[in-house]
Amino acid sequence: MNKNYILMAVNKAGKNVYIDEVPNGKQCGCFCKECGGELVAKNNGKIKVHHFAHATGNDSIQCSQTALHILAKEIIAEERCVAIPRSGKIEFYSADKVELEKSLGDIIPDVFATVKGRAFMVEILVSHAIDEEKLDKIKEHRISCIEIDLSGKTFESKEDVRAALNNPCNMKIIYDDNSRLIQERKEILLNYGLKLKIYRGGIVICPKLCSYVPTYFCEDCVFGCKENNSFMRCGFILPLVLKPNLRVVFNIILKNNTVMFDDEAKRYNDSHFGWKATEAVQRAYISRSF
Ligand SMILES: [Zn+2]
Repeated sequence: MNKNYILMAVNKAGKNVYIDEVPNGKQCGCFCKECGGELVAKNNGKIKVHHFAHATGNDSIQCSQTALHILAKEIIAEERCVAIPRSGKIEFYSADKVELEKSLGDIIPDVFATVKGRAFMVEILVSHAIDEEKLDKIKEHRISCIEIDLSGKTFESKEDVRAALNNPCNMKIIYDDNSRLIQERKEILLNYGLKLKIYRGGIVICPKLCSYVPTYFCEDCVFGCKENNSFMRCGFILPLVLKPNLRVVFNIILKNNTVMFDDEAKRYNDSHFGWKATEAVQRAYISRSF
């Protein structure tokens, strides 16, 4: 086991504090989060690593692991930048909100982040990896999760920990809800095809064509997506009044994929009709997620 310095402690006010934020020695007035023992701040030197030590002289591995775990979470909350799985790959996003130790009922993720209205989890591995039971619960909640492995490494400063947290080599996708979503969409599309409908002056594209029902029905649909925290229907809805040229509108939306569509469709207001989506369009439709 590598030595890990205690870089984080709890002050008298109960706040988590970093070694360089407190006075030197016993003056720091800090305690160990793990064992509750009194800590001494060793942050005067220029050569030695700044760290906390137990006043009793007895620094246990558990105490340093707990301190590292707290520091890692605090850094993520501070940066509000989270790594999330997207179709088998890890991407970095700026989070709208980051919450630490938020209870989801049966699990408490280390980091619970909201990115574009969607929930994500980050687990910090210092001593215990996610077990089967927790994995099952994560899947039940359908929250994409990555694990960042900080075990077996030595960290001498907050910057060290920050670098490790931002290094994709330390990351593992635990559960990717986006992949699950795409798979379910593929299956539905295979069964239903992609249908199109003009409705209330807008265009609706939906495999089940359920979009004429109130939006809340779509919330359980795998084609539903959220934008800016408000729910969007599964299909694209565009005001025809503003953009009368459907062909142009579609080409813009579907990123210049060729769409077989007739401007005459406008006269079929409030009725759906056959529409053959190209494979490229179907792919674009399946993979969109936010
Ligand atoms: Zn301790």
